[in-house]
Amino acid sequence: MPPSPPYIPANLTGGPQERIDRIVIHGTVKPGTYCGAAKDLGAYFRDLQEPSDSEGRWASCHYGVDPCETYQYVYDHTIAYHAPPNDGSIGVELCDPQSGPDARWDDEQHQAMLDRAAELVRQLCRAYDIPMVWLYPDDLTAGGRGITDHENVGLAWGQTSHIDPGWSTSRSDDFIRRVLTEESDVSYDDAARAVRDVLTEKTHQSRVPGSDVTFSLTDSILDTNRFAYDLFSADGSGAMSTEQLRQVVRDEVANGLGAGYEQAADAIALRVGQRIVGGGSDES
Ligand SMILES: [Zn+2]
Repeated sequence: MPPSPPYIPANLTGGPQERIDRIVIHGTVKPGTYCGAAKDLGAYFRDLQEPSDSEGRWASCHYGVDPCETYQYVYDHTIAYHAPPNDGSIGVELCDPQSGPDARWDDEQHQAMLDRAAELVRQLCRAYDIPMVWLYPDDLTAGGRGITDHENVGLAWGQTSHIDPGWSTSRSDDFIRRVLTEESDVSYDDAARAVRDVLTEKTHQSRVPGSDVTFSLTDSILDTNRFAYDLFSADGSGAMSTEQLRQVVRDEVANGLGAGYEQAADAIALRVGQRIVGGGSDES
């Protein structure tokens, strides 16, 4: 069953959306982070006339979350104007001013809001069978299903210049960790430890699909640079996609860990794939 928080209907909505493939996290700018902000945001969307956002387009969103409450503004199977291309996505607004130090996300109000948002996103993933993984721009254009943010949607399809909520990779990792926390008997952190053990204490020789190339997963994790990526490329020209690479890593992790770890392992495999392709420069 989809979640059913209190509902304030947004004025500007599109037609029906049949499929739901991704959940898009936003930061609102206005109003700020306080109890009651999600209700105030609902009144804003209810009263909004066209054109309405900073890029002169219509604006609405499916859900809004503040530290104390969650509201729905557009039903899940109706298109909302939050991050084009909008069809197939559900937008979740976090009531954050989008200004000030990054450390604001660590204060009590933001932490409560993140837990509340993670609970909503977990329910949405279960309702629509969406993988609890973070999607980067390459994953989005490859047709991946999962969780992402407005900035990545903009980078993937170039139809919006918004960069909210402005999270670093450690912030998006943290959010996925919250979503996964109650999903299985095995926590994300336990799975991460087990994955690390598998990667560092054992050497897995893997064959790249469709080629004669084999590689050691341990080496690939430790050597997170462009050379490693070239080494994996099936035809030597960098033609191995992020998705192919991720599949190899995911299979290795699944083989190494076994049943019960699938959700957490999938999220970690996505992260590993991204680090290798991204040159390992995006996180300390
Ligand atoms: Zn946004």
